[in-house]
Amino acid sequence: MLLRKDEENHWVARLACGHFQHVRHNPPWTNRPWVESIEGRNSMLGFLLTCKKCDENAPRDY
Ligand SMILES: [Zn+2]
Repeated sequence: MLLRKDEENHWVARLACGHFQHVRHNPPWTNRPWVESIEGRNSMLGFLLTCKKCDENAPRDY
């Protein structure tokens, strides 16, 4: 899972399944200062997000 910023400067996680997920839409990730620090992001890189797109059988985002 990788973190990047989209064109609106929002954090987006690229999941192993190939979907992108906006961090701000995932409650445990909302309003967390860690996402703004390199140390905080690195500490969370192994965190698995529930992928709603997979639940919906959505096509990959990349
Ligand atoms: Zn997915």
